[in-house]
Amino acid sequence: MGARASIAPPGVAVPGNLTGCDVRVENTSAVAGTFTLAVAGPAAQWAWVAPPSLDLGPGASAGARIVVRLPRSPAFPAGPLPLILEVRSATPRAGEAVVATAHAVVEVAPFADVVATVEPRIAGASRVARYTVTLENRGNAPTRAIVDAVDPDDALYLTVEPDSVDLAIRAVGTAVVTARPQSSFLLGPSRPRPFTIVTECAGAQPVEVGATLDQRPAVPRSAFAAVVAVVGLALAASLLAGGRSLPAEPALPEDRPDPTCIGRDHLASESNGVVRPELTMPVSWSFLRLAADGCTPMRFNPCQPIHYVTSGARAGSADRADLAEALARVSEATGVEFVHDGEVPDDPGLPARPAVVTGPDGARWAPVHIAWVGQDAIGRARALAPPGGGQPGASTTTVPDIGIPGAGLPVESGGVHVTGLLLLNVDAVSDLRTGAAMPHGFGRGPSWGRVLLHELGHLLGLGHVQSTANLMHHQLGAHTSPSATFGTGDRIGLDAVGRKAGCIETPAAAVPGGVRG
Ligand SMILES: [Zn+2]
Repeated sequence: MGARASIAPPGVAVPGNLTGCDVRVENTSAVAGTFTLAVAGPAAQWAWVAPPSLDLGPGASAGARIVVRLPRSPAFPAGPLPLILEVRSATPRAGEAVVATAHAVVEVAPFADVVATVEPRIAGASRVARYTVTLENRGNAPTRAIVDAVDPDDALYLTVEPDSVDLAIRAVGTAVVTARPQSSFLLGPSRPRPFTIVTECAGAQPVEVGATLDQRPAVPRSAFAAVVAVVGLALAASLLAGGRSLPAEPALPEDRPDPTCIGRDHLASESNGVVRPELTMPVSWSFLRLAADGCTPMRFNPCQPIHYVTSGARAGSADRADLAEALARVSEATGVEFVHDGEVPDDPGLPARPAVVTGPDGARWAPVHIAWVGQDAIGRARALAPPGGGQPGASTTTVPDIGIPGAGLPVESGGVHVTGLLLLNVDAVSDLRTGAAMPHGFGRGPSWGRVLLHELGHLLGLGHVQSTANLMHHQLGAHTSPSATFGTGDRIGLDAVGRKAGCIETPAAAVPGGVRG
């Protein structure tokens, strides 16, 4: 018994949907026979042939149809999948044998299916709580999950780190959501602050998971008696000062520097893309990196000038005036001198750049590059922080790139800052709702002056803080202080990285060990 079989080119197989293709079987023998048709190979379980058998006279041929319905499962990755038709003859005397096969390739369409879970669902805290979002790619193609956290009541500051996670098929990744109440209260029962974690990936409906910050009073119950005394004193003081009423929300307590270990409890909890979930964001000042002693912040040698170059075809004279003023203010606060080595052409490769340059005198550290760039370069800087952290990037909040005005990225070698990059996003807006451009100067609210002082703070080694009284606060828009001036905490931090902390030695120029701060 002989036969010939062929398969017409199949269409694209969308998992979960039916796909069909026509087949043709010809009886090449001299006698009539019955032929059974079946699909073999990896899709065998998920395909059938209609009709399943054909009675064919000598030399006769007939058509049938293969129907495939692949499961929505990572078992069938997007891409080509072999489809094999086996034709068996059903002649009783010879027994059943495969008399013809035909091959085709079906293209499996990608589908996205990311499952998100959050742990814990409810966390009790007065200031900050962290939630681990676990993402599992149950789709059939690698995907990028964008994670955002939204609070419809606007009672929380929410950040997600990282805000996108690349997931291979079947891979599991995590992101950390940090929730901080926008205001605190002293006493009383805890207040639930529900919010939603939204995970989106291309080609799928957004997945929403709810979580709650059970906000506790700022003062633990055991401290009640002490608080009554303190509040009493404060009330008395405010009455003496002219009868102004007590503010409803108490300010965050100021830190006191420990002169023997300035860095203790003051390592930034999230510095340039590296999140340290075990750390609470320090209140008034913090350092991006500490030496192995846990006390000494990493910094430039404050006793030699920091050389810098500038670039920015899109920057105007007002931008350059803001920079000059900001550098002057930082010099005044730290004793660190800045020397302009000149203007360089726009570098489309930023934020990537060599840390070492070689000249006639040999290798030396590249000057700090202060670059006015578009939001595309800011996006690349954010992408420096891969899922799970490790390599630092720029700010990694959930805001779009136009909401990120800049990034300060010091480069460290042997525990000393040796060069760095300061990116200023000329596309930045000061208000995401109105799209208003960032104002120049150092006035009230968001401004280029405030951005510059903040990013220069990062460059010198300072991290983010909770207190809005300081320019190193983690959110530009939250500032309410009258103008862009350094706060008490900023100055404590700047003292610790400036001349007051003494001179240090800059190591000889060498390619740093892949560390960018
Ligand atoms: Zn910052």
